[in-house]
Amino acid sequence: MPELPEVETIRQDLEQEIAGKTLRDLEVKERLHLLKNCSERELKRSVVGQRLIAMKRRGKYLLFCFEKFVVVLHLRMSGRLLLEPAKHTRLILEFEKNKTIYFDDARRFGALYLSSQEELEKLPALQKLGIEPFSKEYSLRNFRSRLNSRQEIKRWLLDQSKVTGVGNIYACEALFEARIGPEREASSLSSQESKRLFEAVLQILRRAIEFKGTSIESYRMPSGELGNFQKNFKVYGRLKEPCHRCHGPISRITQGGRSTYFCRACQS
Ligand SMILES: [Zn+2]
Repeated sequence: MPELPEVETIRQDLEQEIAGKTLRDLEVKERLHLLKNCSERELKRSVVGQRLIAMKRRGKYLLFCFEKFVVVLHLRMSGRLLLEPAKHTRLILEFEKNKTIYFDDARRFGALYLSSQEELEKLPALQKLGIEPFSKEYSLRNFRSRLNSRQEIKRWLLDQSKVTGVGNIYACEALFEARIGPEREASSLSSQESKRLFEAVLQILRRAIEFKGTSIESYRMPSGELGNFQKNFKVYGRLKEPCHRCHGPISRITQGGRSTYFCRACQS
């Protein structure tokens, strides 16, 4: 599933392609699963003919900010935004100067919400989100105050209402970086450990954005190219391979139905 670094890469690339351009037309090929709070007619009436002011991101949501309305899109499992049509096109956005964006989504979990600019903060999908890494709210103090939870720390990192944007891959990598065992209770972290984790989350996300995200499943950049962060994994997908720090074998357990990769020797 695309996580913060992949969505941020898409945001940056799309901004270069379409920011400042007017939407000439749009076509919804799959309204049943995709449109969550509007009809195709409403969507067209709200944004066709409007200029795209900015491409923004909140957690794993992409925000197409038009003059009066915002189209909020979550890619979920397999959604991709591409500059060329692919096999499972669900939505086509035709901008001026022959710039067309295709939303491709093989598994149809992608979700689109329409909001006015004024009501954006009230959108239930966004309201639930926790602190945004790279924002002013992401401070050590805010981070620590949310750790007051009995959740396992790995599951805490995946909980979008605590810190938003971190998914399974980056949670594993950040815990390795911070040398914290994934099964620890969130509230049990010492102040040194919480500081290490706070910093590791930012560091991992920043590096992954530099490498244009991780392509191990369906994720592609809008150009169709692959992200490259998978070459930098220290633990994810490395079962039984030697730990980069202590050379012991990497372990795997399941938490909340997701695989967690970690080093038993140097994460405690
Ligand atoms: Zn190790």
